[in-house]
Amino acid sequence: MAQVLADLVAGLAAGQVKVVDLTKPLSPETPIIPLGPPAKQPPNMVIETNNKYDSRGPTSYSNTLHVWEHTGTHFDAPIHWVTGKDLPNNACDTILPQKFIGPACVLDMTAEAAKNPDFLLMPEHIHEWERRHGRIPAGAWVLIRTDWSKREGAAFLNVDANGAHSPGQHVSASRFLAYERDVIGLGVETVGTDAGQAHRFDPPLPNHYTMHGAGKFGLASLCNLDQLPPTGAVVIAAPLKIVNGSGSPARVLALVAN
Ligand code: MN
Repeated sequence: MAQVLADLVAGLAAGQVKVVDLTKPLSPETPIIPLGPPAKQPPNMVIETNNKYDSRGPTSYSNTLHVWEHTGTHFDAPIHWVTGKDLPNNACDTILPQKFIGPACVLDMTAEAAKNPDFLLMPEHIHEWERRHGRIPAGAWVLIRTDWSKREGAAFLNVDANGAHSPGQHVSASRFLAYERDVIGLGVETVGTDAGQAHRFDPPLPNHYTMHGAGKFGLASLCNLDQLPPTGAVVIAAPLKIVNGSGSPARVLALVAN
């Protein structure tokens, strides 16, 4: 099986395997999900220069980061939600590392999200995708493409007097993916893996509630999903090994055959 890795390395060198960056830039400008009371609103990221070839360290440059675990393109671990708090291997440092690499199934919901910013993925959308592309395999990442990552400024969080309006999953779709398909997790282009209005749902934040309760993961604020085929890409998504971490900004990559 060593040949598999040799083929991968050769494919990367020859451009037959393309690396697609699914990660957005991470900075103090990165938008933070508006949680609303009673939750404590997390701060924006702060990048504090420690030294920059100056009196604080003339031969080097380094920063100190102050960052909420769920900032920007990031990984959600099962321990993030109360439903997953007692599961084994549920935190950033204890998740088995082979779970950080898996096949991607990309569901294109761009048209639906363009028509309705509060669009919710239903099991019917998944069934329709499977009729065309085959059954979602166990251990797959399901990535919901909405082109939401192309929204800039205030249009990304899309908040009005009633709160945020951005697409997400109906609880029945999350349950189907977790329990009928045994996916590794679900990734989205929006700021979090639930709809903007999902704090009003029953249960609140049903995708977090369901997926993390089932030991599944989340990826939020992805981009470049329009560069992925419906099947065949391989996702590499590893959080920092934060002890007992609930999540972490991550450099999320996809390998795509050219
Ligand atoms: Mn998160």
